[in-house]
Amino acid sequence: AAKAAGKNCVRRHGETADSATVRRTRLARDLPDALSRGQLRLVYQPVVGTVERRVLGLEALVRWDHPVLGEVSPDEFVPLAEDDGLIVPLQRWVLEQATAELAGLLAEDRDLQLGVNISVRHLQSGSLVPDVAAALARSGVPAGRLMLEVTESLFIGEPDRADGDLQTLHDMGCVISLDDFGRGYSTFAYLARLPVDVLKMDREFLAGIEDDERSAALVHSVIELGRRLSIDVVAEGVETPGQLARLQELGCRYLQGFLLGRPTAPAQLAAVIDAFDAGLLDGPLAPVEVA
Ligand code: C2E
Ligand code: MG
Ligand code: MG
Ligand code: MG
Repeated sequence: AAKAAGKNCVRRHGETADSATVRRTRLARDLPDALSRGQLRLVYQPVVGTVERRVLGLEALVRWDHPVLGEVSPDEFVPLAEDDGLIVPLQRWVLEQATAELAGLLAEDRDLQLGVNISVRHLQSGSLVPDVAAALARSGVPAGRLMLEVTESLFIGEPDRADGDLQTLHDMGCVISLDDFGRGYSTFAYLARLPVDVLKMDREFLAGIEDDERSAALVHSVIELGRRLSIDVVAEGVETPGQLARLQELGCRYLQGFLLGRPTAPAQLAAVIDAFDAGLLDGPLAPVEVA
């Protein structure tokens, strides 16, 4: 019966509340062994610079290959890990794995920065600072190559120890980015309070910028805000050539999205970066197809 339920649960569309619960229960049950069984892996999505015309950075994105349910999205299992106290070991693994893989790319003389998504819970646990320090020490990656992506949900409410730990990581030389900027609650006050180096503008901002002047004005304002605060703005979720063109007109210098590059397995990463960089040598900033 458990197996049949599992099969039903792969069908996400039109699933009943019941099958969603069965799926969640199963994922929560299997998650504790996912790490030790080697079912987690990282893929890396390029971040490109429109002025530099090359891949400047990578964002590490975790995947869980469940033996029965197939690939599970972090949007689905990271919250489960947060609820079950598994998030700190999971994030430690992500940090160790991502910095080790970056060290390999840096050893090839590649000039890249690495973004790692940080869980609120890890920051609140107090162990993020030593865990980051350990990953940097073990891999030999300089702190300035590591960007820690935090979401604004962290900072709702009173300043607390998390603020201090974020400042410590910044003082160590790590780059701090505010992820999904503009989604949810207003973040302007946090920008004054926290050591933010990079804003990742949520992809919802891009909906409609090709033909709607109000949407375009909003994006322009975020880019201008970044300029005034000396914060780099990355546009997330660039999917169409029209969005790309409009973002360049609006002065957005850093882009991430399926149009520029998909999340990519480590084995293909060097080829994807090289193809992208080579494709930019002549002509406009254009996406490159990689076989
Ligand atoms: P995020 O940090 O905002 O990462 C960007 C997400 O948008 C990724 O989804 C990426 O695949 C997706 N994306 C990139 N370009 C496009 C595009 O052009 N169109 C669309 N529709 N989507 C695009 P993914 O990999 O499923 O990750 C979802 C979220 O899960 C991430 O959002 C991040 O918040 C979280 N996450 C991923 N890896 C980790 C991790 O190692 N630790 C923690 N705590 N959270 C993680
Ligand atoms: Mg992110
Ligand atoms: Mg994001
Ligand atoms: Mg996002």
